Amino acid sequence: MDKKLLTPGPLTTSMTTKEAMLHDWGSRDQKFIDLNHSIRESLVKLIDGENNYQCVPMQGSGTFAVESMVGSLTSKDAKILILINGAYGHRMKKMCDYVGRECIAYEVAEHEQHDLDEIENIIDSNTDLTHVFAVYCETTSGILNPIQKISDLVAKKNLSLFIDAMSAFGALPLSSKTIVFDAVAASSNKCLEGVPGVGFILVKNNIIEKAKGNAHSLSLDLYDQWQAMKKNKQWRFTPPTHVLAAFQQAINEHSKEGGVEGRHKRYSNNCKIICDGMKEIGFKQLLSNELQAPIIITFMQPQNSNFNFEEFYDALSNKDFLIYPGKLTVADTFRIGCIGNLDDNDMHDTIKAIKEVVNELQIKIN
Ligand SMILES: *Cc1c(COP(=O)(O)O)cnc(C)c1O
Repeated sequence: MDKKLLTPGPLTTSMTTKEAMLHDWGSRDQKFIDLNHSIRESLVKLIDGENNYQCVPMQGSGTFAVESMVGSLTSKDAKILILINGAYGHRMKKMCDYVGRECIAYEVAEHEQHDLDEIENIIDSNTDLTHVFAVYCETTSGILNPIQKISDLVAKKNLSLFIDAMSAFGALPLSSKTIVFDAVAASSNKCLEGVPGVGFILVKNNIIEKAKGNAHSLSLDLYDQWQAMKKNKQWRFTPPTHVLAAFQQAINEHSKEGGVEGRHKRYSNNCKIICDGMKEIGFKQLLSNELQAPIIITFMQPQNSNFNFEEFYDALSNKDFLIYPGKLTVADTFRIGCIGNLDDNDMHDTIKAIKEVVNELQIKIN
């Protein structure tokens, strides 16, 4: 038995998803071409984007997908407003700097949402802005950003919205019928519960069609990748065949669970069990329930006690539960993910293990 991954990805996958990797696939073979095509179609359907959006997959971890979106889908004279409240917003800023795209940032604290009036002020006083970049669930803290309201505002201002929905896609609503956006990036190994190795971008037809010549990098050129898939339905370079086979299985299981709604329901229940259980033990949650996305939960490390993160981590790992270090810059924290192929029983087992560890290590919780 593998340890339970209470992490935001890679995460615990189903046995059937792992088993899908037990075959070898010829990358130019019709069977693989069909598999690839079916994945791309399913992902477009998940945003109700049939006829309006293209799915372009990109090898690598999620960051590769975000960087290919940033570099390939903006022109060299773009001016971007980035909404930052955590590490992934900062990472998009860093990408703009690498790629050479002009950008400004509106940053708020890691436990706060952006003020919509302030976003509007910034847009009104920077009339040369072309894009807004936003993160849906900021995995740094686990905060849920108000993507519907951000999208309404950006659409009203006639700007182009790009979303990093890495830790949200498949579990939080993202229908292109209600949320207006030009591109969104996500990956195989978060809420879709595949294995790591491939990301994807869903992009509006008119945006990808005019993206030729934007990219700073051949490998990350989404336009080039898309052209290849349009011409012969094949990848330009070696595709991650086994990862894609597992991804298709994972997408089928997502659909069987009831799609985004079904997954959201299980994760919300998981999240509630963790939050209630941790509260009962005495741990303090960083975010209020209204700001908390049902993806990953940040807890404050107890002060003036026997708490030491490494020790706590190791003791839980010995009981087969892997948690995640904190990523906040302002406080000592740790995180517990509630996504992956885990259910209410696993969450109750997690809380039980944490109670035992707190007793064994004689941690006093203030
Ligand atoms: C996980 C994640 C990424 C990508 O991270 P990788 O480690 O490159 O897969 C990007 N943005 C968000 C919000 C994430 O949660």
